[in-house]
Amino acid sequence: MKSLYIHIPFCKQKCLYCDFNSYSNADKLINDYVIALKKEIQSYSFNAYKTIYFGGGTPSYIDEKSIVEILKCIDYKKAEEITIEVNPGTVTKEKLKSYIDNGINRLSIGLQATQDSILKEIGRIHTLGDFEKTYNMAREVGFKNISVDLMFGLPNQTLKDVDESLDFIIKINPEHVSCYSLILHENIFNNLPEDEEEREMYYLIIEKLKEAGYEHYEISNFAKPGYESKHNLVYWNQGEYVGAGAGASSYIDNKRYTNVANINKYIANYEDRTIEEVQANDDKEREYIILKLRLIDGIDIKEMNEKFNINVCEKYKEQIEKMEKLELLECNDKNIRLTKKGLDLANIVWEEFV
Ligand code: SF4
Repeated sequence: MKSLYIHIPFCKQKCLYCDFNSYSNADKLINDYVIALKKEIQSYSFNAYKTIYFGGGTPSYIDEKSIVEILKCIDYKKAEEITIEVNPGTVTKEKLKSYIDNGINRLSIGLQATQDSILKEIGRIHTLGDFEKTYNMAREVGFKNISVDLMFGLPNQTLKDVDESLDFIIKINPEHVSCYSLILHENIFNNLPEDEEEREMYYLIIEKLKEAGYEHYEISNFAKPGYESKHNLVYWNQGEYVGAGAGASSYIDNKRYTNVANINKYIANYEDRTIEEVQANDDKEREYIILKLRLIDGIDIKEMNEKFNINVCEKYKEQIEKMEKLELLECNDKNIRLTKKGLDLANIVWEEFV
């Protein structure tokens, strides 16, 4: 079975750093968007999916009835994991209850930082108090699989702030934590931490979360045993998925498609999509290497050799040796994976295999 990603591109307010395909002040388009989205999902011949993920934007910003209607376009009860991204300040207890009553079994809640001044500076709509309220409501209605997002490298954020945010997360004890550094395409903030400090923040996150019983299973992701994101593991294992909604990408039969990103154009024609890539075997192998190296266990040599009928250590000998010399990759008989230094400088490794 494939996985299904559903994009909800609406937000209450646009965060200052955001370059996702998301819009504020577009509420009047929500109804028509949901209609187009349902049509798109019904147009596929796949009736059931292994995992379903509502991402955005802020999926929790729209009416819960719309989320349920979207789910009912497919045989959603067959999915092992159904996640919805939730932002504090956009849900009520009734909304969360409706999610859980209709098969959604995982929440991903954006905390980002525990300092209200930092949250305000980056344009988030919530405070720590709003997050706590949302998190507690989610537990009260019965969610047993919650992921919390943390950001580092934020303006005016110190190592101590990250430490405090981690203490808070460890105290509330979610099943999963995602940690991303702020990636900016424009120079919009002053007082960003230096590279060295940002690296220390990343190492602190790894150290503290591991100590608290989380397994570091992907560059940016940590989980209590058994709570790894099944949906994201499909991406990292180069599994197939359908992406529905404006700007969403699909990966099926070695082809990558992307839907038109503009909401109005998507509403006018949900079938407006472009084939981004048709993968030859070599492209697929290289992409597999890059995706698998995101995982802490890295590439299972035997598995890769069987999948592609190659000897990966021979075929990519030159690149692997070069990265080993730079201490970015480490290999044994079974696996090829990033070193501690490589986790931090993974881009250099990706470039080698592009
Ligand atoms: S809530 Fe998320 S998607 Fe929406 S503007 Fe902020 S960062 Fe972007």
